[in-house]
Amino acid sequence: MKALVKAAPEEGLALRDEPVPKIGADDILIKVAKTGICGTDLHIWKWDEWAQKTIPVPMVVGHEFAGTVVEVGSHVRTVKVGDRVSGEGHLIGLKSRMARAGHFHLDPETKGIGVNVPGAFAEYLKLPAFNAIHLPPEVDDEIGAILDPLGNAVHTALSFDLIGEDVLITGAGPIGIMAASVCHHVGARHVVITDVNDYRLELCNQVNDAVTVNVGREDLRDVMQRLGMQEGFDIGLEMSGAPNAFDQMVDHMIMGGKIAILGIPSKPTPVDWNRIIFKSLTLKGIYGREMFETWYKMIAMLQSGLDVRKVITHRFKAADYAQGFALMKQGASGKVVLDWG
Ligand code: NAD
Ligand code: ZN
Repeated sequence: MKALVKAAPEEGLALRDEPVPKIGADDILIKVAKTGICGTDLHIWKWDEWAQKTIPVPMVVGHEFAGTVVEVGSHVRTVKVGDRVSGEGHLIGLKSRMARAGHFHLDPETKGIGVNVPGAFAEYLKLPAFNAIHLPPEVDDEIGAILDPLGNAVHTALSFDLIGEDVLITGAGPIGIMAASVCHHVGARHVVITDVNDYRLELCNQVNDAVTVNVGREDLRDVMQRLGMQEGFDIGLEMSGAPNAFDQMVDHMIMGGKIAILGIPSKPTPVDWNRIIFKSLTLKGIYGREMFETWYKMIAMLQSGLDVRKVITHRFKAADYAQGFALMKQGASGKVVLDWG
């Protein structure tokens, strides 16, 4: 089969022939239809410090996918050949306290497909049947291919009650933009999203009604005043990984406000804890998606009017993957979807 492989410890990826994975008794084999390129894949492409420490070479990369099941292992009862699926790319153990309590997403032994084990940028993907998510007819393959990052957005946004609340999202990457759509969908009042990249803010304007703010030019206080906000944002969703965006968020929160943090800073960064303490803020770190409540709610919302399709800005044949990565590198894209059909 064709697969996109980190073939050597250097920048780039190679499309090359790989053996079709052999499945075990609890696995399924998926014929991949569409995949999404993630920021993580870009780190692997660039071969930055994190990638060098994390990714074994050679490795089939990619973890955002949708496709059709072509084979199931002898123990599998929940998935059949012909089912259309996406799937949770975090593979968990079942030994830890949290896993045994049913909090699968908190298992410390989590491994990622396309990171620690062979991934989805390939014609065929092996996945534990446990991780498969059935796609209803309303969710086509290209939306199926971005459920992983939509799930990050949903997990973060649904961390706190949003009904009637004013929400600040820092970072209008694909995940921040989709989170803004989710906030509106579930009944937030004002949703304000910041970035320093006008392309991203303009894209957000096409996807939803969030108030977009370029913090390189505009003052967030002015925006709050324009919206008639008195005290500060009730809920913050940090989705940039930029330390100064987090500082700005803390500055503009209400007393007792709540912040969910998804964005990953590239290195350890100082935090002014005094401001967090004296504002009595609640902070929650977010990793991945809740297994499997995030998936359930996300698909339910897609079936009841949540529309994030416009966040997909580019579609390429898998063989043209390099164009997709080049756009992502420039920040001149939303989600980029590759077609393996
Ligand atoms: P992205 O890099 O495409 O988007 C981040 C955005 O933040 C960019 O548009 C960038 O211009 C913007 N930004 C930079 N500085 C800013 C500032 N000072 N103020 C406001 N915005 C600023 O990333 P993405 O794919 O949308 O993912 C969002 C974040 O979530 C990333 O940090 C990513 O690494 C992280 N992530 C975390 C998890 C997890 O499980 N915790 C999973 C997926 C992604
Ligand atoms: Zn991803």
